[in-house]
Amino acid sequence: MQNDIQEILISQEEIKEKVAELGQHLSKEYEGRNPLVICILKGAFIFMADLVKEITVPIELDFMAVSSYGTSTKSSGEVKIIKDLDSSIEGRDILIVEDIIDSGLTLSYLVDVLQRRNVKSVKLVTLFDKPSGRTVNLEADLAGFILPDAFVVGYGLDYAEKYRNLPYIGVLKPEVYSS
Ligand code: 5GP
Ligand code: MG
Ligand code: MG
Repeated sequence: MQNDIQEILISQEEIKEKVAELGQHLSKEYEGRNPLVICILKGAFIFMADLVKEITVPIELDFMAVSSYGTSTKSSGEVKIIKDLDSSIEGRDILIVEDIIDSGLTLSYLVDVLQRRNVKSVKLVTLFDKPSGRTVNLEADLAGFILPDAFVVGYGLDYAEKYRNLPYIGVLKPEVYSS
């Protein structure tokens, strides 16, 4: 698996520091409140697990799975909810936890869906952001790392469902895509 990686863009240590920073920021932001933190599966599962340990206010968790049609490296914007939330979110402060935003299509759909459920507030935190890929007007409230327009894997992010368990963010060797 490590042999398929051409370059490590962000190390395990750098990610750890950044996630702690994001957690501190969110703890201040939600002081005195009890947000519902929603993990967007599957990609955000590692970020979510590490992030919530750095949040010091009481939270509740839920998970949502969506599939966006497209190729394995680009999303088309046609989004389908595979797993919805377990309970009503009416009146709640919602924090969406996402792994990476590229075109923004997946999240602009999701933010819309959640906002229509009469929530109190919706905020979005992403660990990685590729602003140059954006095709819709969508910004995260909080973003960890700005990435160039390259396809990355690791720390939850896959290529054809592999590489999610790499502890860092890397770029695959070109021959991995062609094999
Ligand atoms: P968007 O709808 O913003 O174009 O894409 C969002 C989803 O596509 C992300 O949640 C992620 O699952 C996937 N994605 C976008 N860029 C990358 C990338 O560089 N690497 C991987 N593995 N997945 C990505
Ligand atoms: Mg994702
Ligand atoms: Mg994927």
